[in-house]
Amino acid sequence: MMTADVYFIRAKSEENLNVIQSKIDLLFRSAGFDSCIEHNDMTAIKIHFGEKGNVTHIPPTYVLPVARLIEANGGKPFVTDTNVLYKSQRSDAVSHLKLAQGHGFTVNNCGAPVIIADGLRGSNEIDVTINGELFEKVSIATEAITANSLIVFTHPTGHLSTGFGGTLKNLGMGLSSRKGKLRQHSAVKPWVEKTRCTQCGQCIIWCPVDAIEWRDEAAFIVNETCIGCGECLTVCRFDAVKFNWRTSGIDLQKRIAEHALGVVKTKKDKAGYFSFLLNVTRDCDCVSGKQQPLFADIGIIASKDPVALDQATLDMIEQETGKPLRLYSYPDIDDTVQLVHGEKIGLGTRRYRLKEISL
Ligand code: SF4
Ligand code: SF4
Repeated sequence: MMTADVYFIRAKSEENLNVIQSKIDLLFRSAGFDSCIEHNDMTAIKIHFGEKGNVTHIPPTYVLPVARLIEANGGKPFVTDTNVLYKSQRSDAVSHLKLAQGHGFTVNNCGAPVIIADGLRGSNEIDVTINGELFEKVSIATEAITANSLIVFTHPTGHLSTGFGGTLKNLGMGLSSRKGKLRQHSAVKPWVEKTRCTQCGQCIIWCPVDAIEWRDEAAFIVNETCIGCGECLTVCRFDAVKFNWRTSGIDLQKRIAEHALGVVKTKKDKAGYFSFLLNVTRDCDCVSGKQQPLFADIGIIASKDPVALDQATLDMIEQETGKPLRLYSYPDIDDTVQLVHGEKIGLGTRRYRLKEISL
């Protein structure tokens, strides 16, 4: 049975920046990420810029050593993320880029420019055939597919609907287009809150399948016609279009794993993954405002296998702190569903060998 290598280095977020950057550099090389980058590769560095006011996301300066190593291997690095479904400064590329810049994700700090992978409004996508259990094809952000190689920075946290937000979530939700995201959430379709609707008509103009009509002096979404594209969520300026984020956790985790497979399938031997067990919080970096870390910093781990990396992340938290992540965050959610399903569909293995390194 296949076993993956996972490399670990102890680190603390308050350490001197040069030391942390040297540790990231060493991990990149120890985990063999050099071999993922070929001459003239466009290399995507996937990261989460943090919602407005979030202070526990991965700092931009951690990207710099990786961007330099990519360039040293002949690649052209760019830093990337996709637009989100809900109303925020990350729901269109213009506001998203401003937020990224405000959080310090500049060429100076990162050594690479920021490009939003799914375009201005989240609709730039490529369908990838995966023949999964739930999906035959998944819709992935265009630049995640057109990039030749991929380095993923994940800040693992607890999560309201999946229990655990790790590398699989960062890939599956974080690199899918708006349609892909909505399909992951599609157990529940959006609806209009009548009292908020001003009858501006924008959602009706934008809906690609004419699923919205006027009823009782408000817009109304016809469930049977709606394809879950998310367009109405973006265009409504009055926060009248609602969406239930608390969809079935188990189904959602499987859908995430299948979208992650859509990203990874196009990057065979061309992807490396980091997980930063620093400032781990109960909720993800989409939460605005300050969150308190759940426990003391552990370190940084890296692997070429995203499933092994997520498994090692959960194991390490339990070993180092004495209890599993879900007991700190959402005890009712089985956060391993995504890993089990990921392994089943060929995304990676939960079996790994941990190799601790030091400077
Ligand atoms: S865009 Fe919003 S406010 Fe305008 S009609 Fe649609 S639901 Fe109502
Ligand atoms: S999600 Fe898309 S298809 Fe459904 S009502 Fe909104 S715009 Fe129309």
